[in-house]
Amino acid sequence: MIHEILPVGPLQCNCSIIGDETTREAMVIDPGDDIDDILALIHKHNLQVKQIVITHAHIDHVGGAMKLRAATGAPILLNENDHALLKMLDAQAAWIGVPPPGKVDIDRSVGSGDKLRAGSLEANVIATPGHTEGSICLYFPTEQKLIAGDTLFAGSIGRTDLPGGSMQKILRSVHDLAHSLPENTIVVPGHGPLTTIGKEKETNPFLTRK
Ligand SMILES: [Zn+2]
Repeated sequence: MIHEILPVGPLQCNCSIIGDETTREAMVIDPGDDIDDILALIHKHNLQVKQIVITHAHIDHVGGAMKLRAATGAPILLNENDHALLKMLDAQAAWIGVPPPGKVDIDRSVGSGDKLRAGSLEANVIATPGHTEGSICLYFPTEQKLIAGDTLFAGSIGRTDLPGGSMQKILRSVHDLAHSLPENTIVVPGHGPLTTIGKEKETNPFLTRK
C-alpha cells in the first residue's frame, strides 16, 4: 500500500493519498486545500485517482475537492447526512477567516456497509455520526488501518459544538470503533499525530471514562 499523509491548509487537515502499488489506482481522502501539493505526490507515485472521499463536510476537509476532481476526473463521495453542512461552506469559510471555496458537488453518497476500492485495496465505510451527522471513517481490514476523520484523535475526540454535532452520538461512535476494531489498528486522525486503537482504549479519556 502506498500511503502518503499530507497536512493541508491553515488547519492542517491530514489528507491521505492511498494507492495500490501494482495497479497504481488510488483514492484521496479529505483534500481540504493545497491541491498542487497533493497532485505532486500523485504524480510522484504515478497514481490514477479513482475516487475522492470526504470524511465530513467541514471546509478544511472538503475545500479542495472540486479542484482535485477537475484535475483527476475522479468522483467526490460524501455521506448524504452532511449535505446540509456542504451548503454552508461560505459560512464555514467566514468562521475561520478563509476565502469561500465555491460550491462543491457530490457525485455519490456513501455510508455504512459500502466498500471503496483502489486496485486490490479495499476499505469499509463506517458511519460515525457525532462530530457531524454525516461523519464517516474508512477501515482497511487487510492493513488494519483506520482513516478517522475528526471522530477520533490521539488522546481526544472531535468537537461537537458546531452545527450537526452531538456529544452523545460521537461517544457512541468512538466506543463502537474501539470495541469492533483490532487493538493493533493504526488510526490516522483528521488532524495531528497517528495513534492505535489499543493506545486510545488505554489512554483516551473519552474511552477510559466509564
Ligand atoms: Zn471537522
